[in-house]
Amino acid sequence: MARPDTRRWLIVAALFVVTYCISTPLAAYGVGAVGYALLLTSLSDDVVLLTDGAELGPSDAALLGSAGVSVRDDAVARLESEAGKLARVVFADGSADARAGLFFVPSFVPSPLAAELGCELDESGAIVTDADGRTSVPSVFAAGDATADRRAVVLAAAAGSRAAYTINAGFARGLLPVATLSQASA
Ligand SMILES: Cc1cc2nc3c(=O)[nH]c(=O)nc-3n(C[C@H](O)[C@H](O)[C@H](O)COP(=O)(O)OP(=O)(O)OC[C@H]3O[C@@H](n4cnc5c(N)ncnc54)[C@H](O)[C@@H]3O)c2cc1C
Repeated sequence: MARPDTRRWLIVAALFVVTYCISTPLAAYGVGAVGYALLLTSLSDDVVLLTDGAELGPSDAALLGSAGVSVRDDAVARLESEAGKLARVVFADGSADARAGLFFVPSFVPSPLAAELGCELDESGAIVTDADGRTSVPSVFAAGDATADRRAVVLAAAAGSRAAYTINAGFARGLLPVATLSQASA
């Protein structure tokens, strides 16, 4: 059973979480951020998706509506900050919406290396691998964000580790070519 002091801290922490999370106005930016907007509802009950003038598909609109996410489709003019923190989103018509956080989907630019080596890529440009990181090119392995795996540190590390096991086993069994430094740089 928690001691009184511990209980008080637990109550303060719980109040902080409830106060901070539930009342914080958050925004997700862009029609590609529907998933983010839905995730943000676990942090706040005041979430808006800003389409910045783009049109949202009807199924996405219905999904957001049922999750309590509002949608604003006006063009965004700028973001304004106060004391180094986001304060509001200002729209092209001059109106503003106070928001404490804005989330957007970063774009990724893949290295051309895998394509140059001839590795098979999927339609999104991710390197196609088997469960042990083998690509379509013998002796070329890939792991992490460069592949079609979900993007998370622990998954990238695990996939890299699986590939490393396979590479080590390949060397040990003589299934992979061993290049010396002078060969590699030649
Ligand atoms: C904004 C954001 C938030 C995230 N939050 C989380 C989170 O909370 N929890 C979580 O688990 N994951 C999170 N992720 C995902 C996580 O960061 C990635 O899944 C993980 O870092 C992937 O590791 P990686 O080694 O595959 O790639 P990276 O960490 O991107 O490393 C690849 C490295 O290779 C280098 N490189 C690329 N091409 C070449 C080349 N041709 N030659 C030499 N070097 C090259 C790059 O510069 C980079 O340093 C987040 C990602 C982003 C963008």
